[in-house]
Amino acid sequence: MLLPLPFPTALDYLAPEGAVSPGDLVQVPLGKRQETGCVWDRESDVPADFAPVPAREVARTRLKPISGKLDMPALPGDLRRFIAWLAAYTLTPPGLVLAMAIRARHTKPPRVVHGWVRGTEATEGLRMTEARQRVMAALGPHPATTASLAERAGVSDAVIRGLAAAGALREEVVTCDPLFGTPDPDFDRPRLSPEQGEAAHELSSAVREGGFATILLEGVTGSGKTEVYFEAVAQCLAQGRQCLVLLPEIALSTQWTDRFARRFGVQPALWHSELGGRKKRETWYAIAAGRAQVVVGARSALFLPFPALGLVIVDEEHESAFKQEEGVTYHGRDMAIVRARLAGIPVILVSATPSLETLTNVEAGRYRHVVLHGRHGAATLPRVALIDMRKAPPERGQFLSPALLGAMRETLARQDQAMLFLNRRGYAPLTLCRSCGHRMECPNCSAWLVEHRARQILTCHHCGHHEPLPHSCPSCAAEASLVPIGPGIERVHEEVRHHFPEARILVMASDTLGSPSATAEAVRQIAAREVDLIVGTQIVAKGWHFPDLTLVGVVDADLGLGGGDLRAAERTVQLLHQVGGRAGRAEKPGQVLLQSYLGDHPVMQALVSNDYQAFMAQEAAQRKPGFWPPYGRLAALIVSADTAEAADGLAGRIGARAPDLPGIQVLGPAPAPLAILRGRHRRRLLLRTRRNVAVQPILRNWLEGLKLTTHERVDIDIDPISF
Ligand code: ADP
Ligand code: ZN
Repeated sequence: MLLPLPFPTALDYLAPEGAVSPGDLVQVPLGKRQETGCVWDRESDVPADFAPVPAREVARTRLKPISGKLDMPALPGDLRRFIAWLAAYTLTPPGLVLAMAIRARHTKPPRVVHGWVRGTEATEGLRMTEARQRVMAALGPHPATTASLAERAGVSDAVIRGLAAAGALREEVVTCDPLFGTPDPDFDRPRLSPEQGEAAHELSSAVREGGFATILLEGVTGSGKTEVYFEAVAQCLAQGRQCLVLLPEIALSTQWTDRFARRFGVQPALWHSELGGRKKRETWYAIAAGRAQVVVGARSALFLPFPALGLVIVDEEHESAFKQEEGVTYHGRDMAIVRARLAGIPVILVSATPSLETLTNVEAGRYRHVVLHGRHGAATLPRVALIDMRKAPPERGQFLSPALLGAMRETLARQDQAMLFLNRRGYAPLTLCRSCGHRMECPNCSAWLVEHRARQILTCHHCGHHEPLPHSCPSCAAEASLVPIGPGIERVHEEVRHHFPEARILVMASDTLGSPSATAEAVRQIAAREVDLIVGTQIVAKGWHFPDLTLVGVVDADLGLGGGDLRAAERTVQLLHQVGGRAGRAEKPGQVLLQSYLGDHPVMQALVSNDYQAFMAQEAAQRKPGFWPPYGRLAALIVSADTAEAADGLAGRIGARAPDLPGIQVLGPAPAPLAILRGRHRRRLLLRTRRNVAVQPILRNWLEGLKLTTHERVDIDIDPISF
């Protein structure tokens, strides 16, 4: 029995012979309380090479009996194996992973309500009392519950029961949930280009043949990747199996779900963290019952109890948003592949800019590769040009260069739309005292406070701390000496308003839009041409399709390159490529302008020449010699305590017992990327090994017997994405 608690193994309980089967959810006593558990067997515990399954030995006489079986669908075997695998791989107690799979456990199944409609038996032979006649007259086209029908007809329940027994009434489910309609694989098939058709055929064949395979679908933005993988979805549906599509930011995917509905006739089932309790429960049960056939979700959808999963798709597979950094740390893309392997089904990774991990696996022959070369139809790729900010800088205190402003003016004159991108919320990332040089910092984190002028506050983007904007410097007390340094999206908006007072401007940032419905409304306004200029953060980089958008300006193309993270260059190319890909997606050609002080940087060169492959070859050459991922493996230990001394002490203790094995290196301890976060002082140790070494046993040995006080913590991050 596996309980959703941090125990190292499953526990044993007694159950009458044949009363429960593996995967069943049951109620069991634990101390004085009752807990939900999942019947676990040897098969559920498929040991990964890197994790021996600990032996469980319990004296039979001390076993307690289970309390009873829950009225819930059992967890399928492939899901149980996935839970065990993920737990072993991430060094997490398996119960905590199980907890992610049975989130709906404290809730009853959604109530199925029945109602009455006219039955098949004729009423002629029946003795029709006046009361009975009133019931028949009160029936409508939709099923009515006993209570409502009795009230409408002014009769007792017994009259209705009598008519039902005679066959004059028939029972039907009242709420036939429109959310989980049946997608029709042939609802509106597109006419694919020959290249698209070939790609679609290859994907569909993999689904038809079944069995595990990983396929990379690569194609420039606007090449029709979505249309193409929809064909694989159609094939999966035609075979009566379920399909899971993972998107990095599902709450923002209204354009995607609308497209799905146009193609398949119904909306897909949605799964993400913002789903309300009732919706979540209904969706969980609909999936377990096989009623929800296509689920589009965030990474947590990997833990849903699909009884007949036939295909997994990971769209924008290169996105770091797939990595879960809190609690159980795992990478949604990597775990999607594991899920597919354990279920014996294909998985399709989709991207215009695949990760180096994925490209390396393609090269090694582990993944298949399907490529779309050009944009669909008349659309061409946007022209990308650099604005060298050293040569023609903006006016003092401003952030838009004359060249970018000129291009915006031309675009608006043509009645096209333009978009400015800056990956930074708020007004200014730093507030500085002109008089003493004091910087406004977060009291809980090693980070600057970001000014949000509209809300008149300084706030920390890491812990949420906020305070009013002070009138005088807290350090030297000088009056009116605090000045904003650098641009955030609000400040760029201010500048744009100043230069284009007539234009209709829309700001798109996660904090200004807030809800998915607000985002949907913003997207509608852009598509309906109610907006001329869009100023936005990351949110504008998503897969939006705006036919009249022809200019994309990147305010600070260098922004992601600081900080010494080995993956920074790769991430910046991917993000800016994605942002630029919003331009010129229909007949009108698009243009992308990058403002940069680092014109010679390989990232800028890769974007201008649109040679992603050459850039990635360079990246590979840089990472290979040091055995950095994907050429080696990495695990991070984040050590934290409530004072700097305690954190150093603990990190030192752990560092002192670091493994000393050939082919293995321990880097650090060093301050973690955020040395102080929410008041906790953090240090990091990195374990680096060759690719063929499993890091889990090494970490287990390393940390075995380590005693921690209540103030000390060690978090393990296998395959960290920042390094
Ligand atoms: P990607 O996912 O590669 O960015 P999309 O699938 O979003 O590309 O396609 C870009 C645009 O081109 C979309 O509006 C899509 O509907 C359209 N499109 C692509 N292929 C076809 C096709 N075969 N027939 C009609 N429209 C297509
Ligand atoms: Zn903070």
